[in-house]
Amino acid sequence: MAIECTCEFPRRSIAINPFLGKRVVINLCCLARVVEEQFGLAGIMEVTDLPAEECADWAKVEEAKERSSQEEVARWDKAERELGAEQAQYLLGNRPQPYEKKEPPGWLAARVGWERPKEWRRNSER
Ligand SMILES: [Zn+2]
Repeated sequence: MAIECTCEFPRRSIAINPFLGKRVVINLCCLARVVEEQFGLAGIMEVTDLPAEECADWAKVEEAKERSSQEEVARWDKAERELGAEQAQYLLGNRPQPYEKKEPPGWLAARVGWERPKEWRRNSER
């Protein structure tokens, strides 16, 4: 019987041993939950809320990555205009690819009640 993880804080441990030619994934949260339930124990895995200042907002982080990427691209384009493509590439490397904001993975989206911000929606979705 496969375990479906519905834990509040999914947590897996992944280890690789190339000499064995194996990778192991241990579903720690579910393991802790099952052990607590089977043995009537508590406290094997304790999930507590972080203070607000330590919490991150997925949309804001993605928007910051996009802004930073746009600044890098603009800097490259400015160097190209002023110095030419060859010099821009010499000084700054290849022209950076613009970053595209990403949706959170499904497991996270489901747990935080993710909704794509209105500003992210394409015209066809409005
Ligand atoms: Zn779990």
